[in-house]
Amino acid sequence: MIFTTRFAPSPTGPLHLGHAYSALLAHDMAQANGGRFLLRIEDIDTARSRPHWEQQIYEDLTWLGLNWPQPVMRQSQRLPRYRATLDQLTAMGLTYPCRCNRRDIEAAAGAPQEGVPQFGPDGRIYPGTCRNRPMAEAGAEDVIRLNMESAVNAARLRPFTETGETYNGQHPMDPRRLITTVGDIILVRRGMGSAYHLSVVVDDADQHITQVVRGADLFEATQIHVLLQALLGLATPTYHHHNLIRDDQGKRLAKRDDARAIAKYRAEGATPQDIRAMVGLGHTSPAPSSG
Ligand code: GLU
Repeated sequence: MIFTTRFAPSPTGPLHLGHAYSALLAHDMAQANGGRFLLRIEDIDTARSRPHWEQQIYEDLTWLGLNWPQPVMRQSQRLPRYRATLDQLTAMGLTYPCRCNRRDIEAAAGAPQEGVPQFGPDGRIYPGTCRNRPMAEAGAEDVIRLNMESAVNAARLRPFTETGETYNGQHPMDPRRLITTVGDIILVRRGMGSAYHLSVVVDDADQHITQVVRGADLFEATQIHVLLQALLGLATPTYHHHNLIRDDQGKRLAKRDDARAIAKYRAEGATPQDIRAMVGLGHTSPAPSSG
């Protein structure tokens, strides 16, 4: 298996320092291990993705000194693949259509109770209103959800390995925790043909990614990805969630933090080495590790 990393930005805003850190780190790790670095454009959210942001991603990454094999995988071109994967989960009896809007979900969830989590890595934990609806009823108004309890019962869950500084180690998969703190996640969003968790799992598998390098904000989502891999018979990569780059006030950088946009630093005359220094990476790419 070739050591393979990826950078998977969504073209919904400018690349900022946090993205540059992710991309450079993934690229450096691949280089240090004699591996490959791949780029993937996560553009299933067509309402928010823009061609000019995609162009800017290519330009900024090239300017940073990164290169990657062509053609670049673009999620918007892979909807049939996601559909086929959804069909696999449906055939296992694990999916259902859901027509609840935000207000329905809030009303059904009721008042917050002490010690009961309301939000998980997929947003508000779904109270299960539509759980018994059959897939035959699914229409354009519906999202498709995963029945988490059935899913954890169907999967052979195995621990995953994390190498990032904060969460370094082996992480057991806890079925109860998935049910109570994650719940029935969305597999397909209304009008989108897929959703983040489903696409990312299928794409990482199809691109033979061995090390997923991304921000620590996605650590809690990883248990969802490992569960889907177990259900679909896909290999689980090693995960490396790096610490987030924060602004001077210690807040994490927002997607639209134009003040930290790579394009802005470029316009002001910064060099790629300046960007590396700003995110705390060495002056040049590290030498291959001795093992
Ligand atoms: N597309 C996601 C983002 O831009 C990253 C997904 C991932 O690395 O798994 O935040």
